[in-house]
Amino acid sequence: MSRERRRARTAVVIPFVPESPDAPPPPTRPPVKRKRAVEARPFLLDFFPLETESGTRLARFFDRLREGRLSTTRCARDDLVLWPPRTACPRCHTEELEWVDLPDRGRLYAFSAVLAGAPLGMEADVPFAVGLVDLDGLPLRLFGRVEGLPWNELEIGAPVRVEPYDTEDGRVFYRFRATG
Ligand SMILES: [Zn+2]
Repeated sequence: MSRERRRARTAVVIPFVPESPDAPPPPTRPPVKRKRAVEARPFLLDFFPLETESGTRLARFFDRLREGRLSTTRCARDDLVLWPPRTACPRCHTEELEWVDLPDRGRLYAFSAVLAGAPLGMEADVPFAVGLVDLDGLPLRLFGRVEGLPWNELEIGAPVRVEPYDTEDGRVFYRFRATG
């Protein structure tokens, strides 16, 4: 007998018992006290890294973002701008990468609206736009939130600028703001 069949034969069947109309109402639970957002999120569902040197070898990306500079790493040996920033070049594997600033302007290549099912921490922002942005002067296409206009007023090709912002839990990230 296969393992699956044996498991099926030993499965416990829980009969469905319809609830009596006289049953007492289910107990009400006390409201959940929310901690600060970053502490309340399950670790594996927090897509953003800790931004300090002890949390990531790319802490300089966030340091520079706090200064208003979007930057990334570049391999001088291969003349290769790497996005997202890396700790090693995927072509020659050197860890001797340099930090370079990226353009802070670009154009919307494509966008979509999040109308439901927003990621953790963004539920209150629905509806909002996310998009792919081609940075000016570099063959780099970045993904991010798009602010500045309602999603249904955005247009392909619309000019945007990079906007670093502080998250509610003390970290920093970037988004795009439509300027047109
Ligand atoms: Zn390289």
